Amino acid sequence: MKDPHCLFCKIIAGEIPSAQVYSDERVVVFKDINPKAAVHLLMVPREHIISLNELETQHDNLIAQMMRTLPIIAKQQGLTTGFRTVINTGAGGGQIIFHLHIHLLGGNNLDGAGF
Ligand code: 5GP
Ligand code: ZN
Repeated sequence: MKDPHCLFCKIIAGEIPSAQVYSDERVVVFKDINPKAAVHLLMVPREHIISLNELETQHDNLIAQMMRTLPIIAKQQGLTTGFRTVINTGAGGGQIIFHLHIHLLGGNNLDGAGF
């Protein structure tokens, strides 16, 4: 489940501090350390899945839950007019942390988000 060398696994385990905004049995959401928008969160599965490339049928319920939780969190963050989600996959896709994560961005400076 957990990769001892993975930064996001350490954040999920509480070994590295983060500003957490949501947590349940399968998913954790915390603030990006280098925000590209007024609201910039990262949603991660507790399970160490490297990227979209490693998803299997067993993850279908997890992915559905993540998709359905995103708009709930966006509303909680005050993003009433909409939000942006980004998933970088693989080095060529701009992925830097190799633990699957969904960027949730919103707020008044979204145009500068660079995605
Ligand atoms: P990627 O390019 O892999 O999709 O995005 C990785 C994201 O993780 C970046 O937006 C980066 O700012 C964020 N990040 C990197 N290290 C940390 C950290 O230690 N804590 C938090 N909260 N975010 C991080
Ligand atoms: Zn991990």
